[in-house]
Amino acid sequence: MSFSFEVRENRKPAKKINLMGMPTEKVENFFAELGEKRFRATQILQWIHQKGVLDIESMTNFSKPLRRKLISMAEVRPPDIINCEESTDGTRKWLIQLNGGSCVEAVFIPERGRGTLCVSSQIGCALDCSFCATGKQGFNRDLSASEIIGQVWLASKSLGKFDQKPSQGITNVVMMGMGEPLMNFDNVVDALNIMLDDHGYGLSKRRVTLSTAGVIPAIDKLGDVSDVSLAISLHAPNDELRNELVPLNRKYSLGGLVSSAKRYLNKMPDNRRKITIEYTLIDNINDRSHHAHELADLLKELPCKINLIPFNPFYGTQYKRVTNFAMYRFRDILQQHGYTVTIRTTRGDDIAAACGQLAGQVNDKTRRQERYKQKFSDEQPVRIIL
Ligand code: SF4
Repeated sequence: MSFSFEVRENRKPAKKINLMGMPTEKVENFFAELGEKRFRATQILQWIHQKGVLDIESMTNFSKPLRRKLISMAEVRPPDIINCEESTDGTRKWLIQLNGGSCVEAVFIPERGRGTLCVSSQIGCALDCSFCATGKQGFNRDLSASEIIGQVWLASKSLGKFDQKPSQGITNVVMMGMGEPLMNFDNVVDALNIMLDDHGYGLSKRRVTLSTAGVIPAIDKLGDVSDVSLAISLHAPNDELRNELVPLNRKYSLGGLVSSAKRYLNKMPDNRRKITIEYTLIDNINDRSHHAHELADLLKELPCKINLIPFNPFYGTQYKRVTNFAMYRFRDILQQHGYTVTIRTTRGDDIAAACGQLAGQVNDKTRRQERYKQKFSDEQPVRIIL
């Protein structure tokens, strides 16, 4: 099922301060500079993120002169939804247009007792993992904090949260959409703070997960300012293979990455926390028995759980989905080593919303799309929207 929305032509960058992406501390400073009391910050967060109000004039617990002052210098502005698709399994995918015209995708996955929203942090991605549709899109720019939290706001609105009648609400957020979140550190942390804030979305730190390909210095920095759950996109048990699948590994190799994950956990006040290891299984590439044993050995001193993800093919890729036999064999070996292992169910496959399939519409600054299209010009057309 697909719904289209009116496209705002030539969406222009905002000239006013956008309060949508400001966490409490920044809004407090903003009001302090206006000579206003700091508690105004919690009021404005509640208006925006709990009541869904964008019109400053409607924020009736502010005096009229304050509203006029705010309107003259600030606004509350989410990005625009331009298309919504709903899968037969209930998964929803929104195509969201940003300043400058590029689009990202956000995906909501309803399950019994929980609803997970997958959020993007960049337009495209610079890291070019070889199995990832986003990686083939090239890179354009980082999302602002307003554009990141704006995805949560738009999904909340679409799901009926602000009308107090959600069909199913957002209980979990995963920063696993387009982009590497730790390459857009400050904006991502601002958005995470709003997700966790009781005056924002009030989500538990255990239910907000940031997924990284392994930017080691940024993992260390994140541990100093946040305690959200951390997932590492590992995908290979040794450096030689990981250098091919995740080129970032040539800079930050596996040994250092596992150590940084341990340091992250050591900074958490609660010593029961675990890292989630994401491992995309690709047929005949990283799914053999010896890979499973090697992975078990690599992670033996890291408190972690392992999430196996069957590779989702996209047009133009040379990789194939893992066979069920190889997937269950891989899982069984890890379980025999004592690990908790889950297999991610493929959701939203019919609307290309499954893991690794998010593509959006990227005005590519890296010319990667061009190179990729050339490489596969004799094969099937690549699913890239230009
Ligand atoms: S897997 Fe993640 S880090 Fe790698 S290219 Fe895709 S979006 Fe970027």
